[in-house]
Amino acid sequence: MKAAWDWHLPRKTEGEQRAVAEFAHACGFDTLIVPGPTGAMVRRGRELGVRVVAVVSPNAGADLVERHPERLQVALPVEENIAAAVSEWAPPYYQHLSHRWFSIVQSNRLLCYEHPESQEELKRRVREALTVADGVAFDGFGFQNHYACFCDRCRGGRERMMEEGMEEAEAIRRMSEESLVDVSHVLYLCAKDAKSDAMVTNHVWPPFNPNPYYGCRLRLDYCTQTISWFYRPAWSIERVAFEAAEMKRLEDPGANVFAPFIGVYADPDLVRPADRLAQELEIAGHYGHVTFCNLATPHRYPEIFEVVKSALEKMG
Ligand SMILES: [Zn+2]
Repeated sequence: MKAAWDWHLPRKTEGEQRAVAEFAHACGFDTLIVPGPTGAMVRRGRELGVRVVAVVSPNAGADLVERHPERLQVALPVEENIAAAVSEWAPPYYQHLSHRWFSIVQSNRLLCYEHPESQEELKRRVREALTVADGVAFDGFGFQNHYACFCDRCRGGRERMMEEGMEEAEAIRRMSEESLVDVSHVLYLCAKDAKSDAMVTNHVWPPFNPNPYYGCRLRLDYCTQTISWFYRPAWSIERVAFEAAEMKRLEDPGANVFAPFIGVYADPDLVRPADRLAQELEIAGHYGHVTFCNLATPHRYPEIFEVVKSALEKMG
C-alpha cells in the first residue's frame, strides 16, 4: 500500500475532488484516504488505479451527545475539569505554543466501544462510507483521556475483573486494550461483509498510554503506525528507524500488515526539509508500504513532490 492521507487540499467542487485523486496519482500513490470522499473522487481514482478510502471516526456529534449520553465515553471528574480549564483559559494555539501535541483530555466526545448501540452506530458509519468508497480507515479510535472509559458499563466490567483478584490498574490496562482490539475486529468484519474487496486500514491515533504499540493486535488489512510525527521537535532519524523496526518486529501477520505512517504538515514552521523526508521515506520503503500525510505538503513544495515521487517509484 502506498497511501496518501489528506485533510487539507480543497474539495468543494467536483473538479477539485477529481484533482485530489489526480494529484495522489501524480505523486505515485495507489491509495487515497480522506474524510467523506465523493463519487466524483472515487470514480476518478478508479480510472487512475487509485483506491479511495473513507475515514471513519468514533466522534460523537452534538446530536448523540444530547440524545444518547449513555453511549459516550466518560472521563474522571478531574479529567473533565482539566478539559474545561483548557477550553476556558488556554490561549490560541496553546498546543503549538506549549509543544504539547496531544491534549491531556481530548475535548471532543467519543463513543464508548463497549456500548452495543455505539457499536451499531459505528457499523452504520462503515456501511455508509462503503456505499461510496473503496475502503475504510479508522481514525481517532482511542480514549478521550488516552487510557480508559469510566461509564457505568466499563466500570462494571472492571469490577468483575477485580472481584476475581485483579488490581485496578491491571484491569484498566487489559479492558481498555481489549475494547480497542474488539471494536476494530467487529468493524473489520462489518466492512468485509458490506463489500468483500473493501480495503480496511487505520491510523493508530490517539496514543493509547497503557501500550503505545498495541496496533499489532488490530484486525485490519494494513495497520498504519506513526514512524515520524507532524510536530517539533522532529524525531531523530535513528528514532524513526527504531520505531519502524520495532513495529515490524511486533507485526502479527494473522492480524494485519504494518504500514509506516509519516506525518508532515505544510506549515512553514512544521514542514521538514526534502532531504530529511527522503530519509524517512527510504526507511518506510524498506518495509514495502508507506502512508504519507498530508498531500498539501508535496502540493505546496515542488522539491518535496520530487522526493515523494522518486521514493514511491523505487518501492515499485
Ligand atoms: Zn464505557
